[in-house]
Amino acid sequence: EPELTGDFSKLMEWVDRFRRLRVRTNADTPHDSKVARAFGAEGIGLCRTEHMFFEGERIMAVREMILAADLEGRKRALEKILPMQKGDFIGIFREMKGLPVTIRLLDPPLHEFLPQADREIEQLAEEMKVRPDVLRTKVDSLHEFNPMLGHRGCRLAITYPEIYDMQVRAIMEAACELIKNEGFEIVPEIMIPLVGEAKELAILRQSAIRVADEVIAEYGVEVEYLIGTMIELPRAALTADVIAEHADFFSFGTNDLTQTTYGLSRDDAGKFLPFYVEKEIYPNDPFVALDQEGVGQLVKMGCEKGRATRPGIKLGICGEHGGEPSSVIFCHRIGLDYVSCSPFRVPIARLAAAQAALMDQQD
Ligand code: PEP
Ligand code: MG
Repeated sequence: EPELTGDFSKLMEWVDRFRRLRVRTNADTPHDSKVARAFGAEGIGLCRTEHMFFEGERIMAVREMILAADLEGRKRALEKILPMQKGDFIGIFREMKGLPVTIRLLDPPLHEFLPQADREIEQLAEEMKVRPDVLRTKVDSLHEFNPMLGHRGCRLAITYPEIYDMQVRAIMEAACELIKNEGFEIVPEIMIPLVGEAKELAILRQSAIRVADEVIAEYGVEVEYLIGTMIELPRAALTADVIAEHADFFSFGTNDLTQTTYGLSRDDAGKFLPFYVEKEIYPNDPFVALDQEGVGQLVKMGCEKGRATRPGIKLGICGEHGGEPSSVIFCHRIGLDYVSCSPFRVPIARLAAAQAALMDQQD
């Protein structure tokens, strides 16, 4: 198990006396959570739930859900996933020992869940008791040319609300169980991805509250929870004042925000970006160091508009930039509450946050 020791650990204790920014981590397993805590993470800023849906047998149930003929079929498939999903969250909450945990509801590009090979389709057709050619037609009808700009994130939940309902139930059952039986103090933070229009969030927030309160009543315990959103589309940053009416917190998803602001695919950019950097057209790879003049201005605007509507709104960043020093310094300057980065970058972020605070004192 990694841990910080000796001089390095002392240095880290020292830098923590100076920084104002909190440092959280991006983690979606108990193991990553543990590593991040050893490196000084003060919570989870982004727990992605996509991978949980691919694990072992689950992918079959997920495919059944997406391809089910009706709501009943989808609900039946989701019931199989609920107990496993609840177990995932119990593991993570337990490892984080009451530190804040932001769980992001499902945000896959749909195609990652669809069966492709004939053998997969045949197997699933048998399971679902439908003809393989019928199933193939359904799979083909869901095909998208640009999945990353398509039916993903909250859009998927607008179409299939029962997916997020299941996840909110799993989160709240996990929290209630630990609070009731083991005396934990947990305030789950439920995060809705890829919002571009406040109405999406208003609708999904309302159903999240309905499910969360239902679970709380079932357990008969008192539990607080927060519902917030990712700001990861330019339109979300531009309308952050309206979005903030429905959000307890914002987390800036600068991976997608960079992709959509530049109109540059985060998955393919590596093919020509090094050439752009070499020619000094871009000073850096904008997916590594936050583009402060462009993308950063949208983040800044999002903060200002969010705070104008809701002065106490909690603000963080969970794109890869949250662990890159120049970006962390920028986040400090625009007044974010925390950065969240992969576990091994937590010490880097702590150091950069302290440097940013010390630079203030020099000014
Ligand atoms: C982001 O878009 O910056 C983000 C953190 O989410 P993901 O990388 O999962 O799209
Ligand atoms: Mg994203």
